[in-house]
Amino acid sequence: MKLAERVNRIKPSPTFAAAAKAATMRAKGIEVISLAQGEPDFDTPENIKEAAYKAIREGITKYTPAAGFPDLKDAIIQKFKNDNGLTYDRSQVFASAGAKLIIYNLAQALFGAGDEVIIPAPYWVSYTDIVLLMDATPVVIPTSEKQGFKISVDQLKLAITSRTKAIIINSPCNPTGATYTADELKALAEILLQKKILIIADDIYEKFVYDGTVFTSIASLGKEIQDQTVVVNGVSKTYSMTGWRIGYAAGSAEIIAAMDKIQTQNVSNPVSFCQKAAVEALLGPQDSVQKMIAEFDRRRRYIVDRLNAMEMIRCSMPKGAFYAFPNVTGLFGKKWGEKQISNSSDVTDFLLEDAKVAVVAGSGFGDDNYVRFAYANSMKNIEKGMDQIQEALKKLK
Ligand code: PMP
Ligand code: GLU
Repeated sequence: MKLAERVNRIKPSPTFAAAAKAATMRAKGIEVISLAQGEPDFDTPENIKEAAYKAIREGITKYTPAAGFPDLKDAIIQKFKNDNGLTYDRSQVFASAGAKLIIYNLAQALFGAGDEVIIPAPYWVSYTDIVLLMDATPVVIPTSEKQGFKISVDQLKLAITSRTKAIIINSPCNPTGATYTADELKALAEILLQKKILIIADDIYEKFVYDGTVFTSIASLGKEIQDQTVVVNGVSKTYSMTGWRIGYAAGSAEIIAAMDKIQTQNVSNPVSFCQKAAVEALLGPQDSVQKMIAEFDRRRRYIVDRLNAMEMIRCSMPKGAFYAFPNVTGLFGKKWGEKQISNSSDVTDFLLEDAKVAVVAGSGFGDDNYVRFAYANSMKNIEKGMDQIQEALKKLK
């Protein structure tokens, strides 16, 4: 069967591919420590699960309005007001089966052949491929560790053309943890407003900031900016609800209506009882979030210290999200048995096969000099993983 050309344009999600590789090894009885997927290892809080059980018992197991139940919309509106000082009405908010589908639906609503979408690198693995699936063109702005993995105003100006339709800003960033300050966002927004470029703000890691870093949603910087921004968020990370598949967005009524129309033709609606759980997540007690972030902070400092203590590896301290993104170029050119390491995939193969630690190659995030470690695993496993890597590195020649 000849598949559609678009299938060849994209690759399987590298985060899922890395997790699958680890699972295959485990199935063969090999013990693997997975620091591959960005998925909090904590259990979903009990009050949130209870809300789902209750919804099922009450028979909330049918189709729902495409963009979500009115009470979920109201909970989303409340969240934006409380956390970000943003005001929206029901016509401006939207729920879907995860933030990934939010971005996909948004791309369906907005992008087509000839459109360019600016994506600062390193970027989350799915942005470029979702843009490519819409026949549009990702325009990647590379950033360096020296600039804190953040784009400058000059870089932005240079990337804009008459075809630029949107930019995706992900702060805190997966995989670098880079978190833009309000002033940095303001400077970028000024240009984006002038050029009438839509801002897609992926704020999914907003709660995961460390060392006194303050999160600012670009949409909160003024009414004009809010009108030109679609904010993407979700409950997956904040409430350890990756499997429940609830993401949400807020933006202009016109764009939200277009996403709603598209959603009636794909997933129909986010899962009914998961929506009720998401209402409890957004409006219920928030203490579990703080506990989880404190634990992530402890692991962040530990993993970065351990990586920096390894010869050949250099890792800056991330300010947000839950990933360490070390530079691994010190391993390039080294021999591991008969194999030579020459890129980030070779490094991840070596770490998986020799150290039995699964991580994701930087190439999928748009920078081949790095690999990503998700510290979403227990401290005990992280310690063990780091010990195993330290031992494995001794074998390189
Ligand atoms: N955006 C970013 C930056 C992410 O890391 C993820 C991770 N899954 C998502 C969006 C999608 O999240 P989900 O579909 O689980 O809501
Ligand atoms: N976003 C997470 C990650 O980067 C989960 C997997 C995915 O959706 O790509 O690992």
